Amino acid sequence: MAVRPITVIGHKALHSPTKKVKEVTDEIRTLVADMYDTMEAADGVGLAANQVGSRLRIFVYDCPVPDGPNARGEVINPVLERLGTPAPVDEEEDGEGCLSVPGEWFPLARHPRARVTGTDLEGNEVVIEGEGLLARCLQHETDHLDGYLYVDRLTARFKSEAREAVKDRGWAADGVLRWDPSSTTADKV
Ligand code: ZN
Repeated sequence: MAVRPITVIGHKALHSPTKKVKEVTDEIRTLVADMYDTMEAADGVGLAANQVGSRLRIFVYDCPVPDGPNARGEVINPVLERLGTPAPVDEEEDGEGCLSVPGEWFPLARHPRARVTGTDLEGNEVVIEGEGLLARCLQHETDHLDGYLYVDRLTARFKSEAREAVKDRGWAADGVLRWDPSSTTADKV
């Protein structure tokens, strides 16, 4: 198992939809094990396969929930249902971040509840339903696999702030398309 470099906004893998997994191979088992290691090294609550450069429809999550152990697992070929109606964006409560836009946070209104169905590495059906942070995480990770970053969904004002922040950090200009969570402590989110 190994920590893999994480793709940064501007990397092609983040901006196109991923492909359905047809069969769980040893390569996919290794990918998923590495995704858990990478998520942990980066202190993330979720990680999508295209964040480590894979084009497959898989995410892992390890998300705090109230009054219990973290919700944790892998989902292969996730299908998302957004539940409830998003409240207007709350700048204090709705901060969202992403390991592929490291060090930045912007408010984004999400549906209050969400359900994801898919399968795990053993082929068992997985159903995860959550609210609050877990609902945000499920929506965020399936967005990744559809080729969207959360900054694509921001309101106009925050979208332009995000664009400025990305420019200021110089990732695109410097050709930085990946960062390594095992070798740097900077820019962790
Ligand atoms: Zn993300």
